[in-house]
Amino acid sequence: MLGGTFDPVHLGHLRSAVELREGLGLDQVRMIPAKMPPLRGEPRVSPEMRLALLRLGIGDTPGLVADPRELERDGPSFSADTLASLREESGGEARLVMALGHDAFLRLASWHAPERLFEFAHVVVIDRPDHEAPLPPALEELVHGREVADAETLMEQPAGKLLRLALPTRMAISATAVRHRLAERRSVRYLLPEAVEARILEGDLYRSH
Ligand code: ATP
Repeated sequence: MLGGTFDPVHLGHLRSAVELREGLGLDQVRMIPAKMPPLRGEPRVSPEMRLALLRLGIGDTPGLVADPRELERDGPSFSADTLASLREESGGEARLVMALGHDAFLRLASWHAPERLFEFAHVVVIDRPDHEAPLPPALEELVHGREVADAETLMEQPAGKLLRLALPTRMAISATAVRHRLAERRSVRYLLPEAVEARILEGDLYRSH
């Protein structure tokens, strides 16, 4: 699972998803847009449009799947609930991984029921350029004793471990910077898949700050 706001999806997300799949030998990477992200402001465009852009961005990329399950649930989009439903579908023995960037990982201890995340899945932290801050104490405590050194050790168990992963391509692309560029009528070429860029420009999305 690679969850996010995807407001909008960009090549940092998509390239990370491809390299995660390769690096960990995953069957699938499910990219799951949050309907209502609990810890940030209201996204700029509707959940349905963010999902549509994600689908356009994924196109026919093998192994990447746009998963709408959080749009089908009412209330805030808690990852613990999403992982619980993925676990139910895949059975107790399947290896489940929740991947997130280092910036998102730093706030993990303040998520809803963070210890439940480890009950259902492993947590894999993707290095991100410009996001290298040390861990806050509550997070240190949450992950204490969980860290493993490599993907092989991670995959020995279905859930409960933590792995930090430096993917081959680190991209300093953020959705915030993409939104700013769009609001200022500056180019976003090569930050987003072309089909996503075209749909955004066509629909005049993200035009105001
Ligand atoms: P924003 O700038 O609006 O906060 P974002 O670009 O961080 O957005 P999100 O939708 O919040 O995008 O990110 C979803 C997940 O993808 C998070 O775990 C985030 O850390 C990760 N992520 C986002 N951009 C990158 C990137 N360039 N490289 C690696 N991981 C990324």
